[in-house]
Amino acid sequence: MKNSQTCPKCGSKEILRIPDNTRRHASGNNIYTTSATLFGKIPVIRYVCCKCGYVENWIEHKEEIQKLIKAF
Ligand SMILES: [Zn+2]
Repeated sequence: MKNSQTCPKCGSKEILRIPDNTRRHASGNNIYTTSATLFGKIPVIRYVCCKCGYVENWIEHKEEIQKLIKAF
């Protein structure tokens, strides 16, 4: 969906990219590698299909994936 810009469920090409809201620190959608600071916060980008409502979650940067590997 992120790469093909097509919904895998219904085939629609109307895909919305919903970025992480950096001001909303309490967002439940982000992954935290540390509980104390925002330094360990990994933003999760969502892709939403406008037709059927299917949602995918993506971490966009390789270094953030590396942080996850170290933390878990
Ligand atoms: Zn769809």
